Amino acid sequence: KKVTIALDGFSSTGKSTVAKRLARELGYVYVDTGAMYRAVTLYALRKGYIGETEKNVKALIDDLPQLKLSFQVNFDSNQSEIHLNGENVEGEIRNLRVSNKVSKIAAIQEVRQKLVEQQQKMGLEKGIVMDGRDIGTVVFPEAELKVFMTASPEHRAQRRYKELLERGEDITYEAVLKNVQERDYIDSNREISPLRKAEDAIEFDNSNLSLEEQFQAIYKLALE
Ligand code: C5P
Repeated sequence: KKVTIALDGFSSTGKSTVAKRLARELGYVYVDTGAMYRAVTLYALRKGYIGETEKNVKALIDDLPQLKLSFQVNFDSNQSEIHLNGENVEGEIRNLRVSNKVSKIAAIQEVRQKLVEQQQKMGLEKGIVMDGRDIGTVVFPEAELKVFMTASPEHRAQRRYKELLERGEDITYEAVLKNVQERDYIDSNREISPLRKAEDAIEFDNSNLSLEEQFQAIYKLALE
């Protein structure tokens, strides 16, 4: 059985669904690192440090030592929650306002440093499934199982659009597709820890695989 499992890939590939289910089946800790970057972004938006432009990145960097993030999953209800300084912000971090800014915030070196450090500490608890962009390359380069998930931007935008509609958000498919494409670009081209498939990661393109087929294939690898 693999004890450290890294799931990386582009946005809305179904990483978190697969990762959460893997953790539940294996009895492991699950961490959604995207939620951590989103919570920092929400903080910066609320403080007015960012808006139309990235106005005051320095103020955000100054506040970083005081920011407290914690992530929990309730496997019974299959819900995860991220807390920012003790407040549950899970409901707010998925909206487009945050999605449109998160890749910019995730490209800031100090932000990555803080979050990667916290993620590595979480990994000291053996038996962990973590999903993100740099887990197999930076956070846990020694992970025993690395999975890299991809799908076409249109397929991913459609998936995301449906999810957001179900949450009652007032959005268009075009706005979601634009956001997915922009994040792909920024995440893949940033200077620090750009989104890359780790050399030893196993790639799954799920444009043509159902989530169930994909889960079964990855679960089998985790048990080997
Ligand atoms: O996974 P999710 O789509 O919620 O991630 C939101 C954003 O957070 C990504 O587009 C990326 O900019 C950033 N991120 C990152 N590194 C991670 C996880 C997320 O840079 N490990």
